[in-house]
Amino acid sequence: HALISLTGVTKAYGSNEARIFALRGIDLSIDSGEFISVMGPSGSGKSTCMNILGCLDTPTSGQYKFGGVEVSHMSRKQLATLRRFYLGFVFQGFNLLNRTTAMENVELPLVYRGIPPKKRKTLARKALEQVGLAGREAHTPGELSGGQQQRVAIARAIATTPSVLFADEPTGNLDTARSHEIMELLKQLNREHNITVVMVTHESDMAAYSDRIIHFVDGQVADVENGQAAAAKGGQDR
Ligand code: ADP
Ligand code: ADP
Repeated sequence: HALISLTGVTKAYGSNEARIFALRGIDLSIDSGEFISVMGPSGSGKSTCMNILGCLDTPTSGQYKFGGVEVSHMSRKQLATLRRFYLGFVFQGFNLLNRTTAMENVELPLVYRGIPPKKRKTLARKALEQVGLAGREAHTPGELSGGQQQRVAIARAIATTPSVLFADEPTGNLDTARSHEIMELLKQLNREHNITVVMVTHESDMAAYSDRIIHFVDGQVADVENGQAAAAKGGQDR
């Protein structure tokens, strides 16, 4: 059954005359183990929807159920707990701490979870291995390439074994070859570790790695495309 389900979700910003609806009735269901891409023009509501799915913000109206539990009316504190235990985040700009090593960056969410140092190091080392960075534990972000920095960020996100990994334009700062490598890694984590992935991207070539592509237009889901079909179509174009 659905891990994530949005029903009639709206989100308004501002008040009175200045009120604008960033989301105008989103119905969306995501199964455990799915790889989802979200696409759409600037201002179509992608970030707003990701912030709600990622429990960083709550809907103005409608339902958001995560694992069968209604979360739209949870407090900030409850949402923070949910994020800490079930969700992982990866960003376009990597968002690593620059003065600390790869190892320490990956350990950080484990510190927040109260995991003791020895266990933390074991888990962080394992996560860095999973993203192909064994041997780079002591490197700081400045000593790593863009692709490697994004791998550290992915290791940080998966070290806590989240149910869902949210990726906001994870390849936006990378060249094409590095982008495909990162997509292969996300796909592998999705398949082998059953991590549900929800990714925003502007690139059809990257969206083609996913099972389903959700197209946003003007705060609504305009179209849902099959990822494999999109990949085949991309191949024909080339
Ligand atoms: P996208 O991620 O697709 O670019 P957004 O979700 O950022 O779209 O924005 C959807 C709409 O909501 C846009 O019209 C945007 O200007 C508006 N918006 C987003 N965040 C805010 C905010 N914090 N306050 C007011 N308006 C916002
Ligand atoms: P964009 O790609 O739209 O410029 P970012 O990649 O910086 O934005 O962040 C995307 C969203 O994730 C932001 O709206 C922000 O609220 C949220 N965010 C940024 N940093 C963190 C973080 N460390 N933990 C959780 N959420 C974050």
